[in-house]
Amino acid sequence: MDALEDEVVKILLIGDAMVGKTSFIDRYVNDDFTDKYKCTIGCDFTSKTVLRPGSWRSYLKLQFWDIAGQERFPLLTRAYYRYVRGCIVMFDITKPDSFQSARKWKSSLDNNTRTDSGHTVPCLLVANKADLPDHAVTYKEVDDLCQECMFSQWTMTSVKDGTMVQETVGYLLDVILKRS
Ligand code: GDP
Ligand code: MG
Repeated sequence: MDALEDEVVKILLIGDAMVGKTSFIDRYVNDDFTDKYKCTIGCDFTSKTVLRPGSWRSYLKLQFWDIAGQERFPLLTRAYYRYVRGCIVMFDITKPDSFQSARKWKSSLDNNTRTDSGHTVPCLLVANKADLPDHAVTYKEVDDLCQECMFSQWTMTSVKDGTMVQETVGYLLDVILKRS
């Protein structure tokens, strides 16, 4: 028997209310989509154990932290950010306000995780609700924000139909594991 504990990887999902953060976690962890708004208060996390990429016997315990109900308070307490290994800043591609907020969420992450040597946590910018018709933000605008705010990369998802959800987490894991 392998006595090693699975390595815990804490991943934080942040972004404005209603962009799809909780749905994203449900989709990734349970492969499920429920079309109602769950207004949970506080912060909770959901775990999923996956094989470490490239390994057949070592596992990662992914811990997705959801800031449910705390979106109105742009300054999360440091406890949310403690031991974070990776982050997703999500916005709704049909809601320009939520896109503008991504900058604020990213700088909050950076301010709370920057190490003495200046390193910040790997973070993806995720444009959700790709399935909806009225995209209000152009790819060029997303590219520019991605560069300006030093996101690792950006992806476009539809949590509703599952597009790019697995791949987004896989990509984030790649960046995280390259760091460590
Ligand atoms: P949160 O506040 O960021 O956690 O957002 P929720 O996960 O609660 O989602 C808010 C609303 O958006 C819910 O009604 C979801 O069903 C809906 N939603 C989430 N992702 C998508 C998506 O990819 N496409 C569409 N059309 N609706 C979505
Ligand atoms: Mg939520």
